[in-house]
Amino acid sequence: WAKGAGRGRYVVFNPQMRSAAAERLQLEQDLWAALPEGQFRLVYQPVVDLVSERVVGFEALLRWDHPTLGVVLPERFLPVAEDIGLIAEIGAWVLHEAAAAAAGWQRQHPEVALSMAVNVSPSQLGSPDLIRHVREALVDSGLPPASLVLELTESVLVRDPVLAAERLRELRALGVKLALDDFGTGYSSLSHLRQFAVDILKIDRSFVSTIDDKEAMPAILRGLINLGRTLDLEIVAEGIEEELQRTHLRDGGAGLAQGYLFAAPLEQADAGLLLLGQADSPAGEDAAAPLA
Ligand code: C2E
Ligand code: MG
Ligand code: MG
Ligand code: MG
Repeated sequence: WAKGAGRGRYVVFNPQMRSAAAERLQLEQDLWAALPEGQFRLVYQPVVDLVSERVVGFEALLRWDHPTLGVVLPERFLPVAEDIGLIAEIGAWVLHEAAAAAAGWQRQHPEVALSMAVNVSPSQLGSPDLIRHVREALVDSGLPPASLVLELTESVLVRDPVLAAERLRELRALGVKLALDDFGTGYSSLSHLRQFAVDILKIDRSFVSTIDDKEAMPAILRGLINLGRTLDLEIVAEGIEEELQRTHLRDGGAGLAQGYLFAAPLEQADAGLLLLGQADSPAGEDAAAPLA
């Protein structure tokens, strides 16, 4: 590995690097078994209407129950899955699983127009298989296309804008909704909004966390919300952890929110119980907070 460093120079391969490389190799090898061995599972984080405080949808988040490492989070293994070409297959599994769960909950709770958001990685969007996988997930589950939200990050739009624009058109033609995830953290966010038609803006947690005292809403956060409203987009504020953030965002017109204040990502059974509990409590301003 020191070859490229040139004559008379050497690269120190320290123990941290060794263990990082070993870990990486292990994840690579073990990932191949994860899907066939049924080691993936989805957890579902509620999306809450800030005014009614009711659950209007979920975001599906991937978990890997590794046989020896325990639960591995997506930010640790998804980049590896991308590198070894497994992301399309994993993504297809996520789409099917999430669509099936949402269709089941819709049948149990026809009174809620429940939506299901699924994250789509950059290379997934680049793959020609994505459209087929989305269509199959919808057909197999019976979930109405408009109930499925695909979350994209700005990086996918930057990578190959022409291809991205084409894919987005194809996805819209299927009738699914598109969300721009982690909005505000990518670069040249504003031009993306003009170039790529999306339905939903998910405002990144880093902006939500700038609400930290009793003062007015921080200017940039207020600007992001107003921008979304001006463009007639639905707004989801990510990562609400504190009461003050909830009230500021609600009063600022954010519309929808996710965060530990309401609920962490839930096991499928617990998400189902949450919906059942909500069905028992009457809607309306005086209803008890369903998630408290
Ligand atoms: P994301 O789509 O922005 O998802 C939100 C992340 O924030 C999730 O982390 C969620 O557990 C976490 N979160 C939610 N509420 C709070 C809060 O109040 N405070 C804090 N500190 N965190 C909160 P998670 O599950 O580890 O996922 C991380 C990222 O991995 C996701 O970011 C998404 O980009 C990606 N990801 C997750 N599942 C999938 C998947 O099935 N496919 C793809 N392609 N990417 C996925
Ligand atoms: Mg997301
Ligand atoms: Mg996000
Ligand atoms: Mg995020």
